[in-house]
Amino acid sequence: MSSGCLFCQIVEGAVPCDEVYSDEEFLAFRDINPQAPTHILIIPKKHIARINDAEADDAELLGRMMLKANDIAESNALAEDGFRYIINSGVDGGQSVYHIHLHICGGRQMMWPPG
Ligand code: AMP
Repeated sequence: MSSGCLFCQIVEGAVPCDEVYSDEEFLAFRDINPQAPTHILIIPKKHIARINDAEADDAELLGRMMLKANDIAESNALAEDGFRYIINSGVDGGQSVYHIHLHICGGRQMMWPPG
């Protein structure tokens, strides 16, 4: 856990969230400012600030996070029509919370380029 990290505070239960899924490694919750009809964030409970801060030891954790995201997409009725995964990193990437999170967005046609 990292003191001052919003998503660590959500993991600890100090800040509420609209929980979608939780296990010993991951937490998923609805984005407070949704950009799509379904917009869920999945995070590792382990604090890693940015995706490019991940180390070799995190490889399996991040792989499992992707597979768990697939389960969440399926259970939220996104699998058939499709969805988009997004990980923003750093200032130019538009990251606003420095704890790795995978955005799961769906329920509408996504546009490209993303802007
Ligand atoms: P990013 O800009 O990629 O770092 O994404 C951070 C996301 O966290 C944004 O989409 C925010 O709307 C979302 N967010 C910020 N605070 C909360 C919160 N308390 N509960 C749920 N989502 C949040």
